[in-house]
Amino acid sequence: MRMDSARAVFFTDLDGTLLDSESYEPSREAVAMVADMAARGIATVPVTSKTAAEVRRLEAVVTIAPVAVVEGGAVLLIPEGGPVLLGPPRSRLLAVLDALRRAGHAVRGLSEMDVEEVAERTALTVEAVQRVMERLASEPFVFLEEPSASELDRLRSLTESSGISLARGDRFWHLAGAEVDKGRGVQAVLDRYPHLTALPAGAVGDAWNDLPMLCRVAHRYLLGSIVADRELTCRVERIPEPGPAGFVEACRRFLAALGWS
Ligand SMILES: [Mg+2]
Repeated sequence: MRMDSARAVFFTDLDGTLLDSESYEPSREAVAMVADMAARGIATVPVTSKTAAEVRRLEAVVTIAPVAVVEGGAVLLIPEGGPVLLGPPRSRLLAVLDALRRAGHAVRGLSEMDVEEVAERTALTVEAVQRVMERLASEPFVFLEEPSASELDRLRSLTESSGISLARGDRFWHLAGAEVDKGRGVQAVLDRYPHLTALPAGAVGDAWNDLPMLCRVAHRYLLGSIVADRELTCRVERIPEPGPAGFVEACRRFLAALGWS
């Protein structure tokens, strides 16, 4: 669908939301729901930690909008041109990750892992892993040991002093520019296509890094229970079921809220 014909916009996380967190595929019901929404003029805009290569593959599977926010808000994909970086390039982030390691934090970045290790950590095929590794402005990493709250505080102040932010997704933590999060990614979409700001907007996600995205829109759906109530930064509608089943329920509620169901 074309963005200028959209009548509403629905921002969605992918892993653990539109896509099953194990198979990384949408359910048949979710594919049908996105198609139905597209037919009604609702643009389903991915806002994801995934890469451009991964979202492009998905375009053949489900009728998502031609616009997407990838790499956790660090990159905007538009049909009119090449990727737009919304934060510092990956080389800067790798330097910060190196500084964290030198400060004694047991972190391991995606760039240090070979394809086999990433395949093992994510249960993805080698081909899919190659798409994960094509990044422009973000660096996922893991802790080799679960960090204590005080280690996290130290790590946060180290990254912040370098102008870098830390976000937690469902499998990886992510480094990106301090001005980068999914909420600012949503804002970049609205800035690029200003007519969308007047349209009804909803968002759905399942993890901590989705909260800034949810808090930018009027209709907010949070799936599953990995985010505790005390961690919420705005009021959300909770849907217990994670993954595509929860996604479909969020779409139903959005349609009902618009009076389009
Ligand atoms: Mg997720």
